[in-house]
Amino acid sequence: MYLDAVEDLIETRIEERPAPSLPSARWSEFPFSSLSHHGGACCEVAREWIVAMDYAQLNGGDLSSGPRWLRARYEWGPSPWPMHWCEVVTRKVIDCGAHSALAHEAFTARGVTAFRAQFVQRYSPDALAQWRTKWTGENVSDHWIGDDVIYHEGPAPVRRLWQPRRGPAVRRRPMGRRRWPPLGRPPDQAGGVAPVLSNRHSGLDPESMNTGL
Ligand SMILES: [Zn+2]
Ligand SMILES: [Zn+2]
Repeated sequence: MYLDAVEDLIETRIEERPAPSLPSARWSEFPFSSLSHHGGACCEVAREWIVAMDYAQLNGGDLSSGPRWLRARYEWGPSPWPMHWCEVVTRKVIDCGAHSALAHEAFTARGVTAFRAQFVQRYSPDALAQWRTKWTGENVSDHWIGDDVIYHEGPAPVRRLWQPRRGPAVRRRPMGRRRWPPLGRPPDQAGGVAPVLSNRHSGLDPESMNTGL
């Protein structure tokens, strides 16, 4: 009788304990933004145009440098989803998800391993209210705006690659197609230096978040 009572008490306590909630919890399972493809020439030509444009703008520069021309070409703002490749090239305004998708395509076409980084950042209530007004004013979902934080996306090219015993971590092919997973194990399992851990929520030093974009 006494033991039964104790077990009841323990169970009650466990049930009543609130789960710890992080500011990022709301987006913990949120998929990163992906551009859709019509499966035809319209989208393939658009995608190839982005890759060719990036290659021309890079002009022999550092392969891991950010595609700054994207920032010059597109203004940051509300963009409706789903969005296709043939649509994104005609837009003047895109959000960070679309921007990140384009930059990721550019990096992978260069042969640079890149991750799709997802961030949760704290901003002032004024900024959040301003963005909410702007997004809802254009009938675009404001799901990325929380109470005092926002959800944000960016490309994360792997600059400091781990070195396995044999050969380089990534075979660089300037105009190659995406190769995933990259040769060998992902950086976070290799014991080397990785700025962002894949499929994990990572604490980042602000210095290491500068992707050049
Ligand atoms: Zn299309
Ligand atoms: Zn953002």
